[in-house]
Amino acid sequence: MRFDTVIIGGGLSGLTAGISLQEAGRKVLIVSAGQNAMHFFSGNFEDIGPARDRVSALFAAAGVRTNAMDGFQLMPMGSFRPASLTLEDVTVFPDEHAAEKALIVNFTGFHDFYGTFIAEALEKAGATCRIRFVRLPEMEHLRLSPSEMRSVNIARAMDEYWEKVVGDIRVLHKDEDLIILPQVFGLKDTAVLDKIRTALPARVAFVGTMPPSVPGIRTQMLLKRRFEVLGGTFLMGDEVTSAALHEGVVSSITTRNLDTARIFADHFILASGGYFSKGLVTTPTQVTEPLFGLDIAYPENRSDWYDADFFAHQPYMDFGVKTDAELHAIKDGEPVQNLFAIGSVLGNTRKEDFGTAAGMAIRTAFAAVDTIKGGNV
Ligand SMILES: Cc1cc2nc3c(=O)[nH]c(=O)nc-3n(C[C@H](O)[C@H](O)[C@H](O)COP(=O)(O)OP(=O)(O)OC[C@H]3O[C@@H](n4cnc5c(N)ncnc54)[C@H](O)[C@@H]3O)c2cc1C
Repeated sequence: MRFDTVIIGGGLSGLTAGISLQEAGRKVLIVSAGQNAMHFFSGNFEDIGPARDRVSALFAAAGVRTNAMDGFQLMPMGSFRPASLTLEDVTVFPDEHAAEKALIVNFTGFHDFYGTFIAEALEKAGATCRIRFVRLPEMEHLRLSPSEMRSVNIARAMDEYWEKVVGDIRVLHKDEDLIILPQVFGLKDTAVLDKIRTALPARVAFVGTMPPSVPGIRTQMLLKRRFEVLGGTFLMGDEVTSAALHEGVVSSITTRNLDTARIFADHFILASGGYFSKGLVTTPTQVTEPLFGLDIAYPENRSDWYDADFFAHQPYMDFGVKTDAELHAIKDGEPVQNLFAIGSVLGNTRKEDFGTAAGMAIRTAFAAVDTIKGGNV
């Protein structure tokens, strides 16, 4: 099997790179082992910087609707975080004075949405809040078990019952100018968000729940579909298990499911994520990149890995694969000519050039793609 580019990891960075290359007419394979950070996504693409317009266009073509607007996102625990590109689920407020009066609505038995924290934050900024619960007989089977009463299961039920919920909220609503709901709507597409906004008598803000993230899962699904519609091949639930790397060039990889079959490509992109996705692995003495054994930027002295103050910035979050200016991964001090590292596997090693978080995942994906497209590898 031969491709122009093989991408290891189908999270935000891998999919952004894969879609961009397919759009440019390249033949791309993405191998993706499992869950990724999008499944826990807040809906805010932090630090998107100069990539905002380019990625908004890529998202729009995939059916992922965004707000490209500077302001603040109301977080699940009640804090406000700066935002400049969010999924359309997220209401972006100009400042922390989000409302005069807010009605916060939750579902009876749903413990992954913290109305009290949200009310505290809004009240601190001068609002008055009421928290109310909606109970649907149709959801009793979920309520019987707390492990079933999760955001994704509620979202599935909401495809059918959202009108009933809206009816109940209309009865609860008095004179509030803001209605806050958990992000449990629109698992497959966002049409229901518009319908709810139109049907309710005040501005609606959907606020994040504890994971899993319904908007994040939907986004990942839409991006994957776009990649496949463009002709890309996505091996879901498979894992790259070995790579042939000789004299600074990768020639092929193997995967767990395809056994001994070798997959060849001109370029390889490592988008395998950070500790969370096992793109980086730690032992008590070492931080490693498990597939290629790439060079990692981190201090040898373990006491420099973390800050004893739990709430301080933790140095280990910065560790990641070393790269040259064009994001070629470095092994044994030398750049690998056709291997690029993008996204969380870089930690914060390229913060000055590409920022952090989702913004970094997207910006590094674009940078690697541009080098590949320019033929400058
Ligand atoms: C829990 C969590 C929540 C976050 N929320 C936000 C947020 O709300 N906003 C924000 O701006 N940033 C957030 N971030 C930062 C986040 O890192 C980026 O947003 C971004 O999604 C990372 O994308 P990625 O593609 O680099 O890595 P990941 O999303 O981690 O994806 C890597 C993928 O590679 C796969 N993989 C690993 N090894 C292999 C292998 N050998 N073969 C095949 N596949 C492999 C993994 O299974 C995984 O699917 C969050 C990070 C985490 C960990």
